[in-house]
Amino acid sequence: MTQMELNKRQTEILEIVKADGPITGEHIAERLNLTRATIRPDLAILTMAGYLDARPRVGYFYSGKKQVHSVGDEMIGMQVGDFQSTPAVVTEHSSVYDAICQMFLQDVGTLFVVDEKACLTGVLSRKDLLRTSIGNTELEKIPVHVIMTRMPNIVYCHKKDTLLSAARKMIDKQIDSLPVIGTATEGLEVVGRITKTNITAAFLTLAQDHEL
Ligand code: ADP
Repeated sequence: MTQMELNKRQTEILEIVKADGPITGEHIAERLNLTRATIRPDLAILTMAGYLDARPRVGYFYSGKKQVHSVGDEMIGMQVGDFQSTPAVVTEHSSVYDAICQMFLQDVGTLFVVDEKACLTGVLSRKDLLRTSIGNTELEKIPVHVIMTRMPNIVYCHKKDTLLSAARKMIDKQIDSLPVIGTATEGLEVVGRITKTNITAAFLTLAQDHEL
C-alpha cells in the first residue's frame, strides 16, 4: 500500500506506539480511554498498511514507515517564509544602466525599487529594462523611477501567506515574482522575494516527501 490517510485515532495510536512501543493492544486502548475492541479495527488497518508490526505476547511496534499526509494537506501548509529568496533592491534614483548591472550581478530577473527609508516604491522586470534600452544610448541618465511599475500597483505578499496564494497572484497578474513585505514596521519594508523558481522548488520538495 503506498498512500493512505489516517484518521485522528489511528494517528494517535501511531504516536503512542512510536514513543512507547512495543506496547500491547490493551495498553494502547487504556492510554486512549477506549476498549481494546474499539481500537481493534484501527490496529488491523495500521498493521495491514505496514505502519505497525505485531508480535504475539510482545505487542505492537512501529515499523518505521513514514506517516503520509496527503499532497493537498502539505501544499496548504507551505508558507512564503519557508521558500523565499533574498530580495535584490535598487534605490529610486539609480540609473537604468546601474539597474541592468545589478540584475546581472545579483543574478535575478526582477529588482525591487526602494526609497530612502528602504520602503518599496517600484518593481523593475527584465523587459522593463530591455524596453528602455532599445534605441536609448544614455541609460546612465534615466532614473529607474521613470520606468518602473509603481505603488499602488505592486502586488506583494507576507511571510505567513500560503505559497499557494502567492502562486495564484503571480499567475493571475502574469508576473514572475512578488516582493515579501515585513509586518514589523509600518512602511512596506522588503524582506524577501518569491519567484516562480521558488514555487518550482517547493513543488519538487512535495514530490520528494511523497517519494514520487
Ligand atoms: P517580464 O516583464 O520580464 O516578462 P514580469 O512578467 O515579472 O517580467 O513583469 C511584467 C510587468 O509587470 C513588468 O512591467 C513589471 O514591472 C510588472 N511587475 C512585475 N512584478 C510585479 C509585481 N509584483 N507587482 C506589480 N507589477 C509587477
